[in-house]
This record gives sequence, structure tokens and C-alpha cells, in this order.
Amino acid sequence: MKLIDSHAHLTSDDFNEDRSFLIKDLSNFAVNYVVMPACDLEDSIDVLNLSKKYDNLFAQVGFHPQNIDSFKDGDIEKLENLAKDPKVLAIGEIGLDYYWQYDNKDEQKEIFIKQLDLARKLKLPVVIHSRDSIDDCLEILKDYSDLKVQIHCFSYSYIHLMECMKRGYYISIGGVVTFKNAENEKNAAINVDLDRLMLETDSPYLSPEPYRGMRNDPRKIVEVAREIANLRGMKLSKLAKRTSKNAMEFFNIK
Ligand SMILES: [Zn+2]
Repeated sequence: MKLIDSHAHLTSDDFNEDRSFLIKDLSNFAVNYVVMPACDLEDSIDVLNLSKKYDNLFAQVGFHPQNIDSFKDGDIEKLENLAKDPKVLAIGEIGLDYYWQYDNKDEQKEIFIKQLDLARKLKLPVVIHSRDSIDDCLEILKDYSDLKVQIHCFSYSYIHLMECMKRGYYISIGGVVTFKNAENEKNAAINVDLDRLMLETDSPYLSPEPYRGMRNDPRKIVEVAREIANLRGMKLSKLAKRTSKNAMEFFNIK
């Protein structure tokens, strides 16, 4: 069995003690590859540098909507330069977050759009973070039907899922799907087209059961896969194979 964690923040300080051990240990847990999102310019540099050290890691570059305070003129050009490295597979994580801050919506949208334009220019897929903002995200993305889109940590309604499927988007599901009352996530796991589903941990956050509340890491992704396989009445090995194939296609991993 082979699994791909499509979203883990291995540059987080939470991994300072054991990062290199953990990355080498991934193969013992059937985790073939981890794709790391970035949160701002400094993190984009860190993510890229880390990915270059290990064959099983890949990078994204971008500004998370929560981190746009540090965004400066010229940063798009800097992201563009970083993205020329073959280890960079996507622009992410980018989007809108009205949960943490809602008085800067226009600024969030502006920087989101600049990064979508960059992805279009570089012909790279985009990884979308959205919180309390899915309708605005989908509205903006209407103008980018040429881009490959992944909605990370999908937690929205059936109607939103159907809209994403209609547009050919990929969704990624994380540890929340293992929580008892995670109705949206469980419904999405059951109803998503199997060729549009990816798995993620969002490490160090959102540990799946039975590790809820503890630091998350990509070795726990099998719990996410197991839960989705159970919900769909599929074999774990088959789900692993399909979701890995989807991630390879989406990120263009050769
Ligand atoms: Zn994330």
C-alpha cells in the first residue's frame, strides 16, 4: 500500500525536535510522498529548501490568507522565482479566511487573485484554503476555469461538493472525517467522485482519531484513509491506490 499526504506543514516549529527522523520514518508507514503547503514568503523558502533535501517531499509556494500582513510589493515576483524550481508543484495554500479576520476581505481577495494569476502564468495547480468563505472563493475561481484546483480540508455542504465536482475540482479530506460529529466531511467522503479525492493530514493540526488533540504528522494518514474506506465500503488498499493516483495526476508527480 502507498499513501500520499497532499497537505502537511512539516516546516512548522512543532517538528523541530524530530523532523528528519520523521521524514525518514514515513516509508515505514506506507507514506510515499508528502506535499507541503507554504504560508508566506519566508515559509515558501523554508518549504522549498526542505523539499530539496528529501526525495519524498514536494513543495508549494504562496501566502495563506491569514498571513497577508507580511505581503509586500514584489513578493509575487519572488514567489515566481521560487516556483521555477522543479520541486515546487503548486501555488498554495491560498484563498480566503473570514473566520480569523473578516475586516480585510478586499485585501484578502486582492492577494488571492494575484496568486491565481501567478498560477495561471506558470501553469501550476492551486491549493485552496477557505474558511467561512467558500462562496466567495468559488465566485472568484469562476474566472480561472483553466486552473487545476484542489480544495484542501474540504468541510462544506453537499451542494458545494456538487459544484466542485461539476467544475472538475479535486477535494482533499483530512483527519476531521474521523470525528464522530463531522457530518459534512463524512458526507463529502461518501459522495465525492473517486477520481477527485485526495488525502491529507494538515499536520501538525487536526490529528485523526484515536490521536485527536495530539500533534499530527503524516504517518497518521492511514487513519484518514481507513475511515473513508469504511464509509465508502471499499478496501483500504483500493482507496490508497486511487487517492495516490489522483495526487500524482493533480501535482504532476512523475
Ligand atoms: Zn494547511
